[in-house]
Amino acid sequence: MKLQLNIQPLESWINVKNQPLLISGPCSAETEDQLLSTAHLLAATGKVSVLRAGIWKPRTRPGEFEGIGSIGLEWLKRAKAETGLPTAVEVANAKHVQEALAAGVDILWIGARSTVNPFTVQEIADALQGVDIPVLVKNPVNPDLQLWVGALERINKAGITKLGAIHRGFSSFEKSAFRNEPMWELAIQLKTLCPELPIINDPSHICGNRELIPYISQKALDLDMQGLMIESHLDPSIAWTDAKQQVTPAALAEMVSKFTLRQAESKNEEFADKLADLRKDIDKIDDLVLQKLAERMSITQKIGEFKRDNKVTILQVNRWDEIMSKRTAFAKALKLDVNFTEKFLELVHGESIRRQTEIMNAGKVDAGIAAEAHADVK
Ligand code: PEP
Ligand code: MN
Repeated sequence: MKLQLNIQPLESWINVKNQPLLISGPCSAETEDQLLSTAHLLAATGKVSVLRAGIWKPRTRPGEFEGIGSIGLEWLKRAKAETGLPTAVEVANAKHVQEALAAGVDILWIGARSTVNPFTVQEIADALQGVDIPVLVKNPVNPDLQLWVGALERINKAGITKLGAIHRGFSSFEKSAFRNEPMWELAIQLKTLCPELPIINDPSHICGNRELIPYISQKALDLDMQGLMIESHLDPSIAWTDAKQQVTPAALAEMVSKFTLRQAESKNEEFADKLADLRKDIDKIDDLVLQKLAERMSITQKIGEFKRDNKVTILQVNRWDEIMSKRTAFAKALKLDVNFTEKFLELVHGESIRRQTEIMNAGKVDAGIAAEAHADVK
Protein backbone atom coordinates (compact mmCIF):
# COMPACT_ATOMS: atom_id res chain seq x y z
CA MET A 1 0.00 0.00 0.00
CA LYS A 2 1.18 3.50 -0.81
CA LEU A 3 -0.23 6.55 0.88
CA GLN A 4 -1.49 9.14 -1.61
CA LEU A 5 -1.10 12.58 -0.10
CA ASN A 6 -1.10 15.81 -2.03
CA ILE A 7 1.75 17.68 -0.39
CA GLN A 8 4.31 20.38 -1.02
CA PRO A 9 8.00 19.94 -0.15
CA LEU A 10 8.89 21.26 3.28
CA GLU A 11 11.47 23.72 1.92
CA SER A 12 8.64 25.51 0.09
CA TRP A 13 6.84 26.35 3.32
CA ILE A 14 9.51 26.66 5.96
CA ASN A 15 12.48 28.92 5.49
CA VAL A 16 15.10 26.53 6.88
CA LYS A 17 17.79 28.81 8.30
CA ASN A 18 20.26 26.11 9.11
CA GLN A 19 20.61 22.36 8.77
CA PRO A 20 19.07 20.52 10.49
CA LEU A 21 15.70 22.28 10.52
CA LEU A 22 15.13 23.21 14.15
CA ILE A 23 11.79 24.08 15.73
CA SER A 24 12.31 25.16 19.31
CA GLY A 25 10.69 27.02 22.17
CA PRO A 26 9.11 26.32 25.51
CA CYS A 27 6.81 23.43 26.21
CA SER A 28 4.37 26.07 27.48
CA ALA A 29 4.14 29.81 27.15
CA GLU A 30 4.14 30.84 30.82
CA THR A 31 4.69 34.58 31.02
CA GLU A 32 5.32 37.26 28.44
CA ASP A 33 8.83 37.72 29.75
CA GLN A 34 9.65 33.98 29.70
CA LEU A 35 8.42 33.60 26.11
CA LEU A 36 10.08 36.74 24.78
CA SER A 37 13.40 36.18 26.51
CA THR A 38 13.53 32.58 25.32
CA ALA A 39 12.59 33.63 21.78
CA HIS A 40 15.33 36.27 21.66
CA LEU A 41 17.97 33.84 22.90
CA LEU A 42 16.85 31.23 20.36
CA ALA A 43 16.90 33.73 17.51
CA ALA A 44 20.39 34.86 18.54
CA THR A 45 21.74 31.33 18.07
CA GLY A 46 20.97 31.63 14.35
CA LYS A 47 20.14 27.92 14.34
CA VAL A 48 16.40 28.00 14.96
CA SER A 49 13.91 28.29 12.10
CA VAL A 50 10.58 28.23 13.97
CA LEU A 51 9.50 29.25 17.49
CA ARG A 52 7.15 26.78 19.18
CA ALA A 53 5.07 27.28 22.34
CA GLY A 54 2.18 25.41 23.91
CA ILE A 55 -0.74 27.77 24.56
CA TRP A 56 -3.36 25.15 25.44
CA LYS A 57 -1.85 22.15 27.24
CA PRO A 58 -3.46 18.73 27.26
CA ARG A 59 -2.72 17.50 30.80
CA THR A 60 -3.11 14.02 32.16
CA ARG A 61 -4.64 15.21 35.45
CA PRO A 62 -7.03 18.14 35.99
CA GLY A 63 -5.64 20.92 38.12
CA GLU A 64 -2.21 20.85 36.50
CA PHE A 65 -1.23 23.91 34.45
CA GLU A 66 -3.51 23.75 31.42
CA GLY A 67 -1.84 26.46 29.38
CA ILE A 68 -1.94 30.22 29.57
CA GLY A 69 -4.61 30.38 26.83
CA SER A 70 -5.38 33.11 24.31
CA ILE A 71 -3.24 35.82 25.95
CA GLY A 72 -0.19 33.74 25.02
CA LEU A 73 -1.03 34.27 21.35
CA GLU A 74 -0.44 37.98 21.83
CA TRP A 75 2.99 37.23 23.31
CA LEU A 76 3.78 34.98 20.36
CA LYS A 77 2.79 37.77 17.99
CA ARG A 78 5.23 40.05 19.77
CA ALA A 79 7.97 37.42 19.77
CA LYS A 80 7.56 37.01 16.02
CA ALA A 81 7.56 40.77 15.40
CA GLU A 82 10.72 41.21 17.48
CA THR A 83 12.72 38.17 16.35
CA GLY A 84 11.36 37.47 12.87
CA LEU A 85 10.86 33.82 13.83
CA PRO A 86 7.69 32.20 12.47
CA THR A 87 5.55 30.64 15.22
CA ALA A 88 3.97 27.24 15.84
CA VAL A 89 1.33 26.17 18.36
CA GLU A 90 -0.63 23.03 19.20
CA VAL A 91 -4.34 23.09 18.37
CA ALA A 92 -6.80 20.57 19.77
CA ASN A 93 -10.19 21.90 18.63
CA ALA A 94 -11.87 24.27 16.17
CA LYS A 95 -11.74 27.19 18.60
CA HIS A 96 -7.97 26.83 18.97
CA VAL A 97 -7.62 26.80 15.17
CA GLN A 98 -9.71 29.96 14.79
CA GLU A 99 -7.85 31.82 17.52
CA ALA A 100 -4.42 30.74 16.27
CA LEU A 101 -5.29 31.79 12.71
CA ALA A 102 -6.67 35.13 13.91
CA ALA A 103 -3.41 35.73 15.83
CA GLY A 104 -1.31 35.07 12.73
CA VAL A 105 0.34 31.85 13.96
CA ASP A 106 2.39 30.41 11.08
CA ILE A 107 2.31 26.65 11.71
CA LEU A 108 -0.18 24.49 13.61
CA TRP A 109 0.51 21.10 15.08
CA ILE A 110 -1.82 18.39 16.29
CA GLY A 111 -0.73 16.80 19.57
CA ALA A 112 -0.38 13.10 20.29
CA ARG A 113 -3.48 13.06 22.50
CA SER A 114 -5.56 14.54 19.68
CA THR A 115 -4.25 12.31 16.88
CA VAL A 116 -5.68 9.29 18.71
CA ASN A 117 -9.20 10.66 18.30
CA PRO A 118 -10.66 10.82 14.77
CA PHE A 119 -13.52 13.07 16.00
CA THR A 120 -10.99 15.63 17.24
CA VAL A 121 -8.87 15.41 14.10
CA GLN A 122 -11.96 15.79 11.91
CA GLU A 123 -13.10 18.84 13.90
CA ILE A 124 -9.67 20.42 13.33
CA ALA A 125 -9.74 19.42 9.65
CA ASP A 126 -13.19 21.02 9.21
CA ALA A 127 -11.96 24.22 10.82
CA LEU A 128 -9.05 24.25 8.36
CA GLN A 129 -11.17 23.96 5.19
CA GLY A 130 -10.05 26.57 2.70
CA VAL A 131 -7.14 27.77 4.89
CA ASP A 132 -3.58 27.77 3.60
CA ILE A 133 -1.38 27.00 6.62
CA PRO A 134 1.24 24.34 7.37
CA VAL A 135 0.11 21.57 9.72
CA LEU A 136 2.28 19.02 11.51
CA VAL A 137 0.63 15.87 12.84
CA LYS A 138 2.24 14.18 15.84
CA ASN A 139 2.03 10.42 16.09
CA PRO A 140 -0.79 9.13 18.30
CA VAL A 141 0.06 8.21 21.90
CA ASN A 142 -0.36 4.49 21.10
CA PRO A 143 1.71 2.73 18.45
CA ASP A 144 -0.98 2.62 15.76
CA LEU A 145 0.31 3.59 12.33
CA GLN A 146 -3.19 3.64 10.83
CA LEU A 147 -4.37 6.30 13.29
CA TRP A 148 -1.38 8.47 12.35
CA VAL A 149 -2.02 7.93 8.64
CA GLY A 150 -5.75 8.58 9.10
CA ALA A 151 -5.09 11.91 10.80
CA LEU A 152 -2.73 12.98 8.01
CA GLU A 153 -5.35 11.99 5.43
CA ARG A 154 -8.12 13.93 7.18
CA ILE A 155 -6.00 17.10 7.31
CA ASN A 156 -4.86 16.64 3.71
CA LYS A 157 -8.46 16.12 2.55
CA ALA A 158 -9.33 19.48 4.09
CA GLY A 159 -6.99 21.00 1.49
CA ILE A 160 -3.86 21.33 3.64
CA THR A 161 -0.89 20.57 1.37
CA LYS A 162 1.83 22.03 3.60
CA LEU A 163 1.78 18.89 5.66
CA GLY A 164 4.30 17.05 7.81
CA ALA A 165 4.46 14.45 10.57
CA ILE A 166 6.13 14.64 13.97
CA HIS A 167 7.55 11.49 15.53
CA ARG A 168 7.33 11.93 19.34
CA GLY A 169 7.41 8.30 20.44
CA PHE A 170 4.75 5.99 21.85
CA SER A 171 3.39 5.31 25.28
CA SER A 172 4.40 1.90 26.57
CA PHE A 173 3.31 -0.27 29.46
CA GLU A 174 6.87 -1.37 30.05
CA LYS A 175 9.21 0.95 31.93
CA SER A 176 12.20 2.06 29.91
CA ALA A 177 14.81 4.79 29.81
CA PHE A 178 12.51 6.80 27.56
CA ARG A 179 9.34 8.68 28.43
CA ASN A 180 7.89 7.50 25.12
CA GLU A 181 9.34 4.55 23.25
CA PRO A 182 10.80 5.71 19.93
CA MET A 183 9.63 2.62 18.00
CA TRP A 184 11.54 3.91 14.99
CA GLU A 185 10.01 1.23 12.81
CA LEU A 186 6.66 3.07 12.83
CA ALA A 187 8.22 6.29 11.54
CA ILE A 188 10.13 4.24 8.96
CA GLN A 189 6.90 2.53 7.88
CA LEU A 190 5.23 5.94 7.48
CA LYS A 191 8.17 7.15 5.39
CA THR A 192 7.96 4.01 3.28
CA LEU A 193 4.23 4.56 2.69
CA CYS A 194 4.78 8.15 1.66
CA PRO A 195 8.42 9.07 0.94
CA GLU A 196 7.51 12.70 0.14
CA LEU A 197 6.04 13.31 3.59
CA PRO A 198 8.45 15.25 5.80
CA ILE A 199 8.93 13.69 9.23
CA ILE A 200 10.28 15.79 12.06
CA ASN A 201 11.57 14.12 15.19
CA ASP A 202 10.63 15.35 18.69
CA PRO A 203 13.41 14.01 20.93
CA SER A 204 12.14 16.02 23.93
CA HIS A 205 8.93 14.00 24.30
CA ILE A 206 10.64 10.72 23.41
CA CYS A 207 13.34 11.19 26.06
CA GLY A 208 11.52 12.96 28.87
CA ASN A 209 14.94 14.11 30.09
CA ARG A 210 17.67 16.37 28.75
CA GLU A 211 20.48 13.82 28.83
CA LEU A 212 19.21 11.52 26.09
CA ILE A 213 18.18 14.26 23.63
CA PRO A 214 21.51 14.39 21.70
CA TYR A 215 21.48 10.62 21.18
CA ILE A 216 17.90 10.50 19.88
CA SER A 217 18.41 13.62 17.74
CA GLN A 218 21.49 12.17 16.05
CA LYS A 219 19.72 8.88 15.44
CA ALA A 220 16.75 10.72 13.88
CA LEU A 221 19.09 12.62 11.58
CA ASP A 222 20.87 9.40 10.65
CA LEU A 223 17.47 7.95 9.74
CA ASP A 224 17.03 10.88 7.35
CA MET A 225 14.32 12.70 9.27
CA GLN A 226 13.78 16.25 8.03
CA GLY A 227 14.24 18.15 11.26
CA LEU A 228 13.93 18.33 15.02
CA MET A 229 11.46 19.89 17.43
CA ILE A 230 13.28 20.44 20.74
CA GLU A 231 11.76 22.14 23.77
CA SER A 232 13.75 25.01 25.24
CA HIS A 233 13.30 27.32 28.19
CA LEU A 234 15.11 30.31 29.60
CA ASP A 235 15.48 28.40 32.88
CA PRO A 236 14.28 24.79 32.53
CA SER A 237 14.56 24.13 36.27
CA ILE A 238 11.55 26.37 36.93
CA ALA A 239 9.48 25.43 33.85
CA TRP A 240 5.77 24.96 34.60
CA THR A 241 5.59 21.87 32.36
CA ASP A 242 8.10 19.26 31.18
CA ALA A 243 10.90 20.80 33.28
CA LYS A 244 13.17 17.74 33.05
CA GLN A 245 13.28 17.63 29.27
CA GLN A 246 13.75 21.30 28.37
CA VAL A 247 17.15 22.78 27.56
CA THR A 248 18.42 26.35 27.62
CA PRO A 249 18.87 28.06 24.26
CA ALA A 250 22.64 28.01 24.86
CA ALA A 251 22.64 24.26 25.54
CA LEU A 252 20.51 23.77 22.44
CA ALA A 253 22.97 25.68 20.26
CA GLU A 254 25.90 23.71 21.64
CA MET A 255 24.12 20.38 21.17
CA VAL A 256 23.17 21.18 17.57
CA SER A 257 26.70 22.24 16.68
CA LYS A 258 27.88 18.73 17.61
CA PHE A 259 25.47 16.85 15.35
CA THR A 260 26.96 15.08 12.36
CA LEU A 261 24.98 15.76 9.20
CA ARG A 262 25.02 13.00 6.63
CA GLN A 263 23.51 12.89 3.16
CA ALA A 264 20.78 10.46 2.16
CA GLU A 265 22.84 9.56 -0.90
CA SER A 266 26.33 10.09 -2.20
CA LYS A 267 27.08 11.13 -5.77
CA ASN A 268 30.52 9.47 -5.55
CA GLU A 269 30.60 6.54 -8.03
CA GLU A 270 33.16 4.49 -6.15
CA PHE A 271 31.00 4.72 -3.05
CA ALA A 272 27.89 3.70 -5.00
CA ASP A 273 29.66 0.63 -6.47
CA LYS A 274 31.03 -0.50 -3.14
CA LEU A 275 27.65 -0.04 -1.47
CA ALA A 276 25.94 -2.02 -4.24
CA ASP A 277 28.43 -4.89 -3.70
CA LEU A 278 27.90 -4.92 0.04
CA ARG A 279 24.11 -4.88 -0.47
CA LYS A 280 24.40 -7.87 -2.79
CA ASP A 281 26.25 -9.73 -0.03
CA ILE A 282 23.52 -8.81 2.45
CA ASP A 283 20.80 -9.98 0.05
CA LYS A 284 22.54 -13.36 -0.34
CA ILE A 285 22.83 -13.80 3.41
CA ASP A 286 19.20 -12.80 3.97
CA ASP A 287 18.14 -15.46 1.47
CA LEU A 288 20.27 -18.03 3.30
CA VAL A 289 18.83 -17.03 6.67
CA LEU A 290 15.30 -17.48 5.28
CA GLN A 291 16.15 -20.84 3.72
CA LYS A 292 17.59 -22.04 7.01
CA LEU A 293 14.52 -20.77 8.88
CA ALA A 294 12.29 -22.72 6.49
CA GLU A 295 14.41 -25.84 7.13
CA ARG A 296 14.11 -25.27 10.85
CA MET A 297 10.33 -24.98 10.54
CA SER A 298 10.08 -28.22 8.61
CA ILE A 299 11.88 -29.98 11.48
CA THR A 300 9.46 -28.27 13.87
CA GLN A 301 6.67 -29.78 11.78
CA LYS A 302 8.11 -33.28 12.24
CA ILE A 303 8.57 -32.75 15.98
CA GLY A 304 4.97 -31.55 16.21
CA GLU A 305 3.66 -34.68 14.51
CA PHE A 306 5.87 -36.85 16.69
CA LYS A 307 4.67 -35.19 19.90
CA ARG A 308 1.06 -35.40 18.73
CA ASP A 309 1.33 -39.14 18.02
CA ASN A 310 2.90 -39.72 21.42
CA LYS A 311 0.54 -37.36 23.30
CA VAL A 312 3.35 -35.16 24.57
CA THR A 313 2.86 -31.42 25.31
CA ILE A 314 4.20 -28.84 22.89
CA LEU A 315 6.24 -26.96 25.45
CA GLN A 316 9.01 -28.49 27.54
CA VAL A 317 10.32 -25.62 29.62
CA ASN A 318 13.69 -27.29 30.24
CA ARG A 319 14.36 -27.63 26.54
CA TRP A 320 13.47 -23.98 25.95
CA ASP A 321 15.76 -22.89 28.80
CA GLU A 322 18.56 -24.93 27.31
CA ILE A 323 18.08 -23.39 23.84
CA MET A 324 18.08 -19.89 25.28
CA SER A 325 21.17 -20.27 27.42
CA LYS A 326 23.23 -22.19 24.85
CA ARG A 327 22.29 -19.97 21.93
CA THR A 328 22.77 -16.69 23.78
CA ALA A 329 26.22 -17.85 24.92
CA PHE A 330 27.05 -18.73 21.32
CA ALA A 331 25.66 -15.39 20.11
CA LYS A 332 27.79 -13.58 22.66
CA ALA A 333 30.88 -15.38 21.40
CA LEU A 334 29.91 -14.25 17.89
CA LYS A 335 29.66 -10.68 19.21
CA LEU A 336 25.92 -10.52 18.60
CA ASP A 337 23.88 -8.38 20.97
CA VAL A 338 22.30 -10.64 23.60
CA ASN A 339 19.07 -8.68 23.77
CA PHE A 340 18.69 -8.90 20.00
CA THR A 341 19.44 -12.63 20.04
CA GLU A 342 16.89 -13.27 22.76
CA LYS A 343 14.20 -11.38 20.89
CA PHE A 344 15.02 -13.23 17.69
CA LEU A 345 14.92 -16.64 19.39
CA GLU A 346 11.66 -15.79 21.14
CA LEU A 347 10.12 -14.89 17.80
CA VAL A 348 11.32 -18.13 16.20
CA HIS A 349 10.19 -20.17 19.19
CA GLY A 350 6.77 -18.45 19.17
CA GLU A 351 6.32 -19.44 15.53
CA SER A 352 7.39 -23.03 16.31
CA ILE A 353 4.78 -23.25 19.05
CA ARG A 354 2.12 -21.82 16.78
CA ARG A 355 2.91 -24.38 14.08
CA GLN A 356 2.90 -27.25 16.51
CA THR A 357 -0.45 -26.05 17.92
CA GLU A 358 -1.77 -26.15 14.37
CA ILE A 359 -0.56 -29.72 13.90
CA MET A 360 -1.88 -30.97 17.24
CA ASN A 361 -5.28 -29.36 16.84
CA ALA A 362 -5.88 -29.59 13.10
CA GLY A 363 -9.40 -28.50 12.25
CA LYS A 364 -10.32 -27.77 15.89
CA VAL A 365 -9.04 -24.29 16.70
CA ASP A 366 -8.59 -22.67 13.31
CA ALA A 367 -9.80 -19.19 14.33
CA GLY A 368 -7.41 -19.08 17.29
CA ILE A 369 -4.47 -20.26 15.20
CA ALA A 370 -5.20 -17.65 12.55
CA ALA A 371 -5.44 -14.93 15.22
CA GLU A 372 -2.10 -15.95 16.70
CA ALA A 373 -0.43 -16.02 13.31
CA HIS A 374 -1.60 -12.46 12.80
CA ALA A 375 -0.48 -11.40 16.27
CA ASP A 376 2.97 -12.87 15.67
CA VAL A 377 3.65 -10.93 12.52
CA LYS A 378 2.46 -7.62 13.95
C1 PEP B 1 4.10 19.29 23.40
O1 PEP B 1 4.65 19.34 22.30
O2 PEP B 1 4.35 20.08 24.34
C2 PEP B 1 3.17 18.18 23.68
C3 PEP B 1 2.18 18.27 24.54
O3 PEP B 1 3.53 17.09 22.99
P1 PEP B 1 2.80 15.66 22.75
O4 PEP B 1 1.51 15.97 22.07
O5 PEP B 1 3.80 15.01 21.87
O6 PEP B 1 2.66 15.01 24.08
MN1 MN C 1 6.02 19.38 26.35
